[in-house]
Amino acid sequence: MDLNFYLTWFGVITLGETVRYLLVAGGMFLAFLALSRWLAPRKIQDKPLKFKDVRREIAASLVSCVVFAGVITLTIVGLYTGVLTWRSFQLSVGATILFQIAMAIGHDTYFYWTHRMMHGRRLFRTVHLTHHQSKAPTALASYAFSPIEAAVQVGFVPLWVLLVPTAPENVGFFVAHQVIHNAFGHSGYELAWPGFARGRITQWFATTTHHDLHHSEGRYNFGLWFTWWDRMMGTEHPHYRERFDANARPLFRRRGTAQAAPVAAAGSQGNA
Ligand SMILES: [Zn+2]
Ligand SMILES: [Zn+2]
Repeated sequence: MDLNFYLTWFGVITLGETVRYLLVAGGMFLAFLALSRWLAPRKIQDKPLKFKDVRREIAASLVSCVVFAGVITLTIVGLYTGVLTWRSFQLSVGATILFQIAMAIGHDTYFYWTHRMMHGRRLFRTVHLTHHQSKAPTALASYAFSPIEAAVQVGFVPLWVLLVPTAPENVGFFVAHQVIHNAFGHSGYELAWPGFARGRITQWFATTTHHDLHHSEGRYNFGLWFTWWDRMMGTEHPHYRERFDANARPLFRRRGTAQAAPVAAAGSQGNA
């Protein structure tokens, strides 16, 4: 294969990543903006939306799309040249679901520990600060990473498929779900039902409030999909469930009622 072949892949993947970001993150941002009056009781922070933040989140995310395409293209180069091997195979429906769960657990573990490393004194400024410039994130911040962090984030999929035999549909579903989940996690609105953060099963799934608290306060909630790593390692926000309860209010109750006070207080606290 010649250079043009790989450059074509790079161009097509960059375009695909960009369109996917604009459709999912951009679409969710615009939808929540259009519904902002109706969703006001579910808004997590009171900070007003600033155009310069929106522009910064979009610009950083578009750079990340190029980095994602670069890493994926390098993986394709590795596969075509035989340096890398993807042991893909067909699975039954049950096995596909089990492998999907395993992939989510693997990614949550990868994300938690790389994320905690990026909060170390040496790496935070150079690698992770770009993402934390969004203290009250919107869906557009989904991929607002520094180029190094973007490479770390996208690196999970090639790493996983090289280490674990994985069917193509598992990769497809993972990527689709990850994009949507990430946009929701940064949307600034809590859409889970009341009691979700305390349910016997649902308490183990991270909510938008969970990740929003990470952006507003910095020191807690490093997990992505699940809450168990934070709970096991003592890094879960001490008032996460109370904050969630305050955010997951009935939609007919407007801000400014007595219940809004804890949320407003959360928004006023600085980053760690
Ligand atoms: Zn962080
Ligand atoms: Zn984030």
